[in-house]
Amino acid sequence: MVTTWPKNFPGLGTGAEFLAEQINVMSGGRIHVEVYGAGELVPAFEIFDAVAGGSAQMGHGSAYYWKGKYPALQFFSTTPFGMTAMEMNSWLYHGGGMQLWQKAYEQFGLVPAASGNTGVQMAGWFNKEVNSLEDLKGLKMRIPGLAGEVLKRAGGTPVNLPGGELFTSLQSGTIDATEWVGPYNDLAFGFHKIARYYYYPGWHEPGTTLECFINKAAFEELPEDLQSIVLNACRVANQDMLAEYIARNNDALETLVNEHNVKLRELPAEVIDTLGKLSEEVTVELASVDALAREIFDSYSNFFKKSRAWLNISERAYLNLRAG
Ligand code: CA
Repeated sequence: MVTTWPKNFPGLGTGAEFLAEQINVMSGGRIHVEVYGAGELVPAFEIFDAVAGGSAQMGHGSAYYWKGKYPALQFFSTTPFGMTAMEMNSWLYHGGGMQLWQKAYEQFGLVPAASGNTGVQMAGWFNKEVNSLEDLKGLKMRIPGLAGEVLKRAGGTPVNLPGGELFTSLQSGTIDATEWVGPYNDLAFGFHKIARYYYYPGWHEPGTTLECFINKAAFEELPEDLQSIVLNACRVANQDMLAEYIARNNDALETLVNEHNVKLRELPAEVIDTLGKLSEEVTVELASVDALAREIFDSYSNFFKKSRAWLNISERAYLNLRAG
C-alpha cells in the first residue's frame, strides 16, 4: 500500500497502518499488506498511477488529489460548503454514492473504498489576520481541490503540496498560508512555530473522506471472502479515523492556544458569504464535464438536499438547544 502521507503521520498515516493491520489479522495472514509512506516507493501524488499501473496493489489518499485525472472525483473526497462526515458516509453507503465512485474509478482500473474521515477541518494557518476579502487578494495558500479554485476566484493563488512539504514552504515564504487538517494533525506538523493565526471554520473541507483504492485486477484475483475482508476492513478504518479525530482534536487545540499562544480566529461573515457563493459556482461547473460527472453531481446534490432537511431538525436543532 502506497500512501500520500508521511509514514505513521498521526491519524492519516496511522490510519493507513490500522487498515493494513485489520486486513492482515482478519485474513489470518492470507493477505499481507505492507504500508509505504509518501516518497518511499513513489512520491505522494504518484500513488494513483502506481496502483492503476500495478506497481503497487493498494493506495491510501483522498480523491480530490486526482482532480487532474478526472475533475468529478472531488465529490468523493469533499466539496467546499458540502457534506459533513455523517452525510458523506450516508451518501456513499446508502445513497448511491459508492456505486458512482466505483464507476468513476473503473475508468482507471481501480476499486475505491472510503477508509477514513477527518470531520470538519480547520480553515488554516495565516501569518496575517483575515479581516476582509481584501486580505485574500494575492494570498498564496496551500489548499487542495475545489476550494483552491474558490480561493483563486476570490483573488488568491492556490497551490497544492503534499503534507510533508508544508512546513518548509510556509517557513521559507514560498506560501503565505496553509490549511492541513485540524488541531491533532496540525500540532504534529508544528505549524504554530511559523504562523500565528489559526482560523475556523473549515468551509473548504467539511468532512473529507480518505480513500483506499485497490488495483482492480489484483482485487478480482482474490476469492470472495478476502474481497469482503478488504472492503469491510476499510469500513472499520473509516469509522475509526473519525472517532480518533473527534477524540484528539480538542486537547490538541488547547495545547496550541494555551501552551503555544496561537491566536484562534473565526473567519468574518463577509468572507464566508463570498466563499460560499463561489463554492456553489465551482461545484456546479464540475457537472458539465461529461455525462458521468452530471450523474455524480445530481446524485450528490439530491442527497445533500435531503440530508440537510433532516439534519436541520435533528443534529442542528439539538446542537442549537444544547449550546444555551
Ligand atoms: Ca485539508
